[in-house]
Amino acid sequence: MIVFSKSSEMREWSFEQHKAGKTISFVPTMGYLHDGHLSLVSQAQKNADVTVLSIFVNPAQFAPGEDYNKYPRDEKRDIRVCEERGVDVVYIPEVNEMYPDSYSTYVEVEGLTDYLCGKSRPTHFRGVATIVTKLFNIVNPDIAVFGQKDAQQARIIEQLCSDLQFNINIVVAPIVREQDGLAMSSRNVRLTDEHRKEAPAIYRALMELKEQYNKGVTEVEDYKRTFSEYLSKNAPDAVIDYVEVVDWNSMSPVKVVEKNVLIAVAAKFSNVRLIDNIILEQ
Ligand code: AMP
Repeated sequence: MIVFSKSSEMREWSFEQHKAGKTISFVPTMGYLHDGHLSLVSQAQKNADVTVLSIFVNPAQFAPGEDYNKYPRDEKRDIRVCEERGVDVVYIPEVNEMYPDSYSTYVEVEGLTDYLCGKSRPTHFRGVATIVTKLFNIVNPDIAVFGQKDAQQARIIEQLCSDLQFNINIVVAPIVREQDGLAMSSRNVRLTDEHRKEAPAIYRALMELKEQYNKGVTEVEDYKRTFSEYLSKNAPDAVIDYVEVVDWNSMSPVKVVEKNVLIAVAAKFSNVRLIDNIILEQ
């Protein structure tokens, strides 16, 4: 396995792979890897000849006062885990190379970013779209794998690829959960013991909504109420940022709950913000 930090080295390697007729799959991450990330690696490996994983805690997607400085990091362990999993390249860009002092170009995906996390974190997706565009240009993958855990992000990247004509196939992989249902996240280690015990209630509340759906409930307000009531009973320290039922394509709220809608939620346990979602299928 090779570890690159310079974009020129990463670029050169990808060029050589393509010249040799190989396809490249790519898994962008912010590191502190867990089984959710590794499931993306497996998908990537199934879909291409060689796999690149990037680790970059992207300052542009954190607003002032968010957890950029507190975001968990462990590069040594991440590199070891990638090696064990047969990743071909770990790319760890330097902040100074990604955003030199003269930096002034940003990518904005309109519309899709107006909802859900885009509402509470208005500059977040601009940072995400910008770094993903840069990484796509440097890594030049044929396939890129994103998690449904960040459903809105995955949808925004699909749109970005289509709008900017990146010839990259976007694969969206299912959410990997802890045994108690909590969606795996690098941020989970920042929960206090007490909050870690409460946090799986988010998923259990989503399962209550799934049951409502199976019973044929169509009123959006009924779903929102059930979620809030379940959480206030079972996770009293959680502060709900949003619970929304949206259309996958537009990410905008639906009027009636039907099949193929996404229920997305965000909740904070003191300063740790967690997100989760389910897709309601038939
Ligand atoms: P992050 O390092 O949190 O930016 O995540 C990097 C990629 O891993 C994103 O595409 C996430 O959606 C994905 N990911 C994070 N957590 C999970 C999870 N629990 N299950 C599946 N994918 C995940």
